[in-house]
Amino acid sequence: MKIGIDIGHNTPPDTGATGIRFEDELTLDVGTRVIEKLKALGYQVIDCKPNRARSITDSLASRCNIANANRVEVFVSIHFNAFNKLANGTEIFAMSNAGRKIAQPVLDEIVKLGFFNRGVKNGSHLYVLKNTNMSAILIECCFCDSRKDMNRFEAEAMANAIVKGLTGKLPESEQEVDRIPDEEDNPNTSVLRLQQALNRLRIIGLNGQRLDEDGFIGPQTKFAIENFQRIVAVQPTGIAGDTTWGAINQILAKRILRRNHAGGVAVRYLQHRLGAENDGIYGPQTEGLVRRFQQQNGLIADGIVGLMTWGKLLG
Ligand SMILES: [Zn+2]
Repeated sequence: MKIGIDIGHNTPPDTGATGIRFEDELTLDVGTRVIEKLKALGYQVIDCKPNRARSITDSLASRCNIANANRVEVFVSIHFNAFNKLANGTEIFAMSNAGRKIAQPVLDEIVKLGFFNRGVKNGSHLYVLKNTNMSAILIECCFCDSRKDMNRFEAEAMANAIVKGLTGKLPESEQEVDRIPDEEDNPNTSVLRLQQALNRLRIIGLNGQRLDEDGFIGPQTKFAIENFQRIVAVQPTGIAGDTTWGAINQILAKRILRRNHAGGVAVRYLQHRLGAENDGIYGPQTEGLVRRFQQQNGLIADGIVGLMTWGKLLG
């Protein structure tokens, strides 16, 4: 099996979070060990981190290009989380069911080290998962700004857990992988939920008002759908199909968004709300506007969109 290992950040201006320790230092330490260990076990490993990058987008695109060009079978991106110093634990993002099946045993192994289990989650807001052609996972090993996690963390043990999770046997049974349900997986696509969602997203109707939550598609609702589609760069048809519902649910799932990590529809929506350039990349301009928004709303201006900030953005 050919495995692509993507050591997060370490290519300025693509730099990671600063906590008690620097994310760049941690991803490099763990990632280098993972690469060596996999090679020692006889796996073909492609190091997907570029040597340099002109911009964040360039850095992320290069990582995907290296993985795609080398036709790796599994892509593993290694990151560390940061939030409010209290949040802790491990989460792994995947998009496909195949990706989830790779993620689960890795998560199980890391959790055995004593980290809190935050689950396998849908990572459709992550550039490297969206733009790689193979099964891909992004591991948020633990929180680099959490005292609890940093006291527990050892690079060698973390690397061993990742390697064991990746190369160990898959579960025997074909049972569904454990999923923690959230809004991203909400199957309800009724007109009523659509109107409620657009109101929560503060997408107004033709008359500049909130939509009536009446369960009927009229010109007001159609206008609001089109407006939303333009914001998230989906073809403005005025009809809520799979892509539009995917975008709505991704935003309502309130994923933690932070600089150099997030991209896609949730970021486009955030940029729309903050008046930032709508390029779908959480770069320095977006971060600056998030800080200002947080300040204006009495929140800690850390530039990271977590549940409190989402709470102020969404109704
Ligand atoms: Zn990162």
